[in-house]
Amino acid sequence: MIGGKAAPGYHMAKMIIKLITSVGNIINNDPVVGDRLKVIYLENYRVSLAEKVIPAADLSQQISTAGTEASGTGNMKFMLNGALTIGTMDGANVEMAEEPGEENLFIFGMRVEDVEALDKKGYNAKEYYDRIPELRQAMDQIRDGRFSPREPDLFKDVVNMLMNHDR
Ligand SMILES: *Cc1c(COP(=O)(O)O)cnc(C)c1O
Repeated sequence: MIGGKAAPGYHMAKMIIKLITSVGNIINNDPVVGDRLKVIYLENYRVSLAEKVIPAADLSQQISTAGTEASGTGNMKFMLNGALTIGTMDGANVEMAEEPGEENLFIFGMRVEDVEALDKKGYNAKEYYDRIPELRQAMDQIRDGRFSPREPDLFKDVVNMLMNHDR
């Protein structure tokens, strides 16, 4: 389950939501996957929906890049309601790791120092694309219309952003 909202003028955020629902259409209708996995985008995420979703969640994934302060209060609501947190050391995840102890969360990924060091060295998405076959296959499938067969070019800009502009 993925929930969120895009500001009206934020085109790339809207395209990312479109990608999530498009990947969902393929996975949710794949006979081999069957009932083992479903991708659900929570439309119109709002307090009345959060009141149902948050207490029901077993896992909460909060994986914003360390230093962007993008993990705010949703993460705390999930933790207070008993979900296990899978998170990066960003925003309120940091306090959530300090108070009950890091052994009570699943913390992973780059720390702020690692992010700063990589920024200095120069992040190059293509290095990862070239080195990790599964990542390359996923990016190629998104770029080539595997998830948007009726509009094969739909996600070209998303892939271009991830490969050439994303920090
Ligand atoms: C808590 C909450 C937010 C804010 O979540 P953050 O993780 O702080 O970005 C947004 N919308 C709803 C409905 C919420 O309950």
